[in-house]
Amino acid sequence: MAFGWIDEQAELRRRAGLVRTLRPRPAESPLLDLASNDYLGLARHPEVTEGAARAARTWGGGATGSRLVTGTTELHAELERELADFCGFEAALVFSSGYAANLAAVTALAPHGSLIVSDAGNHASLIDGCRLARGTTQVVAHSEPDAVRKALHTYDGPAVVVSDTVFSVDGDAAPLARFAEVCREHGAGLVVDDAHGLGVLGDGGRGAPHAAGLAGADDVVVTVTLSKSFGSQGGAVLGPARVIDHLVNAARTFIFDTGLAPAAAGAALAALRLLRREPERAARARMVASELHTRLTAAGLEAVRPDAAVVSVRAPSPEEAVLWAADCRAAGLAVGCFRPPSVPDGISRLRLTARADLSEGQIERAVRVIGETRP
Ligand code: PMP
Repeated sequence: MAFGWIDEQAELRRRAGLVRTLRPRPAESPLLDLASNDYLGLARHPEVTEGAARAARTWGGGATGSRLVTGTTELHAELERELADFCGFEAALVFSSGYAANLAAVTALAPHGSLIVSDAGNHASLIDGCRLARGTTQVVAHSEPDAVRKALHTYDGPAVVVSDTVFSVDGDAAPLARFAEVCREHGAGLVVDDAHGLGVLGDGGRGAPHAAGLAGADDVVVTVTLSKSFGSQGGAVLGPARVIDHLVNAARTFIFDTGLAPAAAGAALAALRLLRREPERAARARMVASELHTRLTAAGLEAVRPDAAVVSVRAPSPEEAVLWAADCRAAGLAVGCFRPPSVPDGISRLRLTARADLSEGQIERAVRVIGETRP
């Protein structure tokens, strides 16, 4: 039978307790949300939703074509200018997702004959970028500049180092300044994914590269998503204008993809302007994360000290992690649950996201529920 092997895989997955299912979220959820990536609480902010609605009314429900044909509106250009300016880079290019932005940056900057040095903790989209790129990938130990140095040392040709700025599983930050130093010793480029840093780290949420003093550097390229702190959808690559021009001409996920929907561009632009006006939102998200960590630790739970807005809590086993998350849900709290194969180290966790708009009472309630339902 066609696709017969799928049933065998499904059976294995069922036996291992690793089946994933989709659960539609109601518009007005009664759950306290520590599972989404809406770090600044902007996804439903009236200015952001109005930005989306106005853009759809002006430009239509979709971009109507690829960016190089009909899919670039004035709104896309405005978003690119303001995003580059906010994060301190010369230019930016908007994509339909952060995933597409990562595929673009890695594939277009790692041609045949080049070396890609990739951190072992990188997000799936960077890993897929490495798989699609014509260069050769060497995976190195997590957040180890010396391992990066060693990998670069063995190579003569063009090289690029690829890393998340904040890792999505444990919420730990990469040693960006040291990565940049090692890259400079070897004339390598640095590509970093700031999906979890933008809006949270750096002055007023300008991101982890800005905080590390790398904004505007001619050897640093940053990818971001518009779907987390900005409460919208889409992604972008930021960097020197000559790199952005190269992507326009060479990145397949830019050239062959329909442009970002105007509504998403409008929402992201509104969120960006709001963050400029209310920069304290970034610090508040970091403070909520730190508060969550302090209280979880005080309750005897094994939580990783957060560097941004992601707080990871260790679970004893994948099965117990799933049950723990379900018990939280039954008690009115939505949390993320990471387990193999999403986590390559085999350690299962609850993943909590700090939101700038969580109140003291909500933080207290979340910690109480997690403590009371612990396996
Ligand atoms: N990079 C990281 C680190 C992420 O966590 C995500 C989203 N899960 C992405 C990239 C992909 O971004 P998007 O959802 O916009 O495709």
